Amino acid sequence: MPGFELFGNQERKQVNEVLETGVLMRYGFDGMRQDHWKALELENALAARMQVKHAQVVSSGTAALTIALASAGVGAGDEVIMPTFTFVASFEAILAIGAVPILVDIDDTLTLSPVAVKNAITEKTRVVMPVHMCGSMADLGALKAICDTNGLLLLEDACQAIGGTYDGKPLGSYGHLGCFSFDYVKTITCGEGGAIITNNAAFHKNADHYSDHGHDHIDNDRGAEGHPFLGYNYRISELNAAVGLAQLARLDEFLAIQKKNYSILREALETVSGITFRNVPEGGEENYSFLSFFLPTKALAKKTHKELASAGIDGCFYWFDNNWHYYRKWEHLTERKSLGKLSKEVLAGLQDFSTTDFSASDHWVGRNISCLVKLSWTEEEVAGRAAKMKKIISEVVSTFG
Ligand SMILES: *Cc1c(COP(=O)(O)O)cnc(C)c1O
Repeated sequence: MPGFELFGNQERKQVNEVLETGVLMRYGFDGMRQDHWKALELENALAARMQVKHAQVVSSGTAALTIALASAGVGAGDEVIMPTFTFVASFEAILAIGAVPILVDIDDTLTLSPVAVKNAITEKTRVVMPVHMCGSMADLGALKAICDTNGLLLLEDACQAIGGTYDGKPLGSYGHLGCFSFDYVKTITCGEGGAIITNNAAFHKNADHYSDHGHDHIDNDRGAEGHPFLGYNYRISELNAAVGLAQLARLDEFLAIQKKNYSILREALETVSGITFRNVPEGGEENYSFLSFFLPTKALAKKTHKELASAGIDGCFYWFDNNWHYYRKWEHLTERKSLGKLSKEVLAGLQDFSTTDFSASDHWVGRNISCLVKLSWTEEEVAGRAAKMKKIISEVVSTFG
């Protein structure tokens, strides 16, 4: 995840251009800004790189998901299907617009299982939201077919997978809407930021207005703009957008280093018998930000995770026990802990988590380890790491029999 690893002159130059004018806001102040429109430039560059007609850059990935849902008119009581393995932002965004998150199982792709999605569809379902966790995607072809048959929206959370592709298309551009995060630990960063991409002009217009209090941005006169519908403030600042412009220009450079380092680790682990790798659906290419593999049992996965850490191999995650990324530790959601009252629709629509069966997800996540692929490693570091990982994992697996 190079956002926090590689930062330098190009980022500083972009930010300095903003600092020199002092115009930190993306709208208005035309006379002062010396023609610097960093957020707008980032939108144009992102749309071009992602081969879509429209991009809206906003304050975070969580904001992007919220806006994407709102832009398509999703609201109170509508059901949004999401995976059990994701970041908490998935259900936060759904709840923020009054809709109901419906959790369903993942499969060996570590993302939404199309079979589980099909079984979860009700007359209230509006959206299927696959989350491309750790750099790789769900079987998007199967999900798209399910969405088309049932008149549902496909919203890709590509926050962790920028640069990956499916069916030759950039991840995020395959569904009706796609979202990215540019927070500090993502593949490219703005410090904080996010984006919605789409080919749908109406969704884009709605996203543009919604993210700025419903301003219609028509005559660019802040005072006189109309407000066709209720909105919110999810704007990005010019400073953050400036960082993003420099980072996006380096995306392909980052991806190439990531792939090289991934391949070295992968090659070493391919020779360990007893482990298997995450399934990348046919037609897909991941962005190589993580190397994810499965141990034969949950106990062996826990043991491997512990031994990797004590050998100084940092950045390997055992998501099954993680507070942020797996439903088992989301008691604020499952026990409905809210500061205020949740709406009737949400209370009526939420699953009863004391009876849900996510054993299929437990089967995969419980045996999975995902290791972050860094860009700042030297050749010796990657080679040393590959050898150590191979030795440790081989030893743990050899105790299995
Ligand atoms: C990071 C992340 C988000 C949220 O992005 P923020 O910019 O941190 O709000 C959403 N979904 C996934 C899968 C993420 O990894």
